Amino acid sequence: MKILIAEDEPTTRALLGRTLERWGHEVVSARDGEEAWEALGVHSDLRILVTDWEMPRLDGPALCERLRASPKAQYVYVIMLTSHRDPLHTVQGLDAGADDYVCKPFNPAELRARIGVGRRLVSLQDELAVKHRELEVANAELRRLASTDPLMQIGNRRSFDDALLRRHALATVDGRNYGVLMVDIDHFKSFNDRFGHAFGDQVLTAVAAAAGQALGREAELYRYGGEEIVGMAPDIDRDRLQVLGERLREAIGSLRLFAPGFDSPAGVTCSVGIAAWDGAEDLTAQALLERADAALYHAKRAGRNRVERWPMENPLAPLAPKLSITPQAPLVTG
Ligand code: GH3
Ligand code: MG
Ligand code: MG
Ligand code: MG
Repeated sequence: MKILIAEDEPTTRALLGRTLERWGHEVVSARDGEEAWEALGVHSDLRILVTDWEMPRLDGPALCERLRASPKAQYVYVIMLTSHRDPLHTVQGLDAGADDYVCKPFNPAELRARIGVGRRLVSLQDELAVKHRELEVANAELRRLASTDPLMQIGNRRSFDDALLRRHALATVDGRNYGVLMVDIDHFKSFNDRFGHAFGDQVLTAVAAAAGQALGREAELYRYGGEEIVGMAPDIDRDRLQVLGERLREAIGSLRLFAPGFDSPAGVTCSVGIAAWDGAEDLTAQALLERADAALYHAKRAGRNRVERWPMENPLAPLAPKLSITPQAPLVTG
């Protein structure tokens, strides 16, 4: 272990150095607190400091305080050497941040035992630091998993809901435009029916990857649900959003998917509804999403494989109201 000695008295310094080296430690020596402080800056692998109490320029307690106040990456274990036997002094040294103290003239066996304690503490600290880093990595992965759709490998619905609210808050507070793209795969059910759900899953993965490539950094993608994807593009106007929508539609439309047992590739198309927020209206995020959804619905009704935007230029006639079935009175046969 690399140990730093801070001691102004040359004989004691030399004796300490020799003793520690004999025990197999690597020793760095300093003649006062300032020199010791510099050495700590140079040698990041110094993990134990044995420091005298009284030294010129910077004494032991002040060195300790400075060390504890600095954001060091690794903990340095401090043993204070003192010729004062007064318990108040001990308290002062420990309060300054020392971990232990040894009275001068030091007893080699005691010093050795106390350095052993320091080594144990330093290695426990190191183990803890490793565990802490592992935990951080695991936490980051958990956060990623909690916000990612496992099939499409894009954000999930929960992260979309959060991101939409954050984006809308940015838009309303800072006046930053944004837009949403609602994407729905056309006739996806028949895909499942013809090729099976496992292949349907592969198609969903391929569609999400193609959509991601098409939008690049201009929009974030989330799985809204089922075979629906939603894109959110910050700082964008309607026209640019339309360009993105077309790009996405073409990228998905040009996919060639090979189902097992089928010779020719299958293609897939999607319909897209877009809505942009430009700050001119008092609109909630939910209302913007509903506009994109209405535009998507319009795209479906207008024939699919197309991009429609809000407000629709050619509104379609409303659908005929669904037949309502009213309970019939039981037939009386007689
Ligand atoms: P439309 O063009 O009107 O959107 O027709 P569609 O068939 O795509 O729409 P519909 O809502 O009738 O069907 C969606 C299908 O998507 C039904 C459901 O089984 C399928 N689906 C949803 N999630 C998954 C999934 O994770 N994996 C697979 N394989 N299929 C899924
Ligand atoms: Mg001294
Ligand atoms: Mg759908
Ligand atoms: Mg669909």
